[in-house]
Amino acid sequence: MSVPALRQPKFTNTQLKDVKKPIILQPDFVILTLRNKDKLVVSSDAYHGILTVEMEVKCVFCKVTMDLDFVHKENHKKSSKHLALVREHPFIETFSQNLIKQLNCDNFYCTICNVMVTAPFLKRHIMSEVHMQELQKAEARALNYTPS
Ligand SMILES: [Zn+2]
Ligand SMILES: [Zn+2]
Repeated sequence: MSVPALRQPKFTNTQLKDVKKPIILQPDFVILTLRNKDKLVVSSDAYHGILTVEMEVKCVFCKVTMDLDFVHKENHKKSSKHLALVREHPFIETFSQNLIKQLNCDNFYCTICNVMVTAPFLKRHIMSEVHMQELQKAEARALNYTPS
């Protein structure tokens, strides 16, 4: 959806591991452990399928749009109806760490980038520089949780 005006150079995994600067984790992050025990840390909004568009908040699982209000948004994420819908949309196994969920036959949701992607663009999205960078960020955040 949003493309940064200036694209950053890609970091290799080696460079990521060399980063010594501590990453400050805000409380609104979610740790996800993959089947292969790899960990990814994504924002709570991304995990919950909450998209912020200008002055509105949209939940991709419940298909509702709310006014941009922090308390309202947090209450939505805690509601049992919402949580049930999040569980009903599991991550697609074949896309593993890309954390893709299918919303319907035409639309997918990328948890890594917190964006909706239409079916014809899904493969291209996963291969895109924007997605790769977001995935590396999620992996880098997770390094902070690994006891050394
Ligand atoms: Zn919802
Ligand atoms: Zn993505």
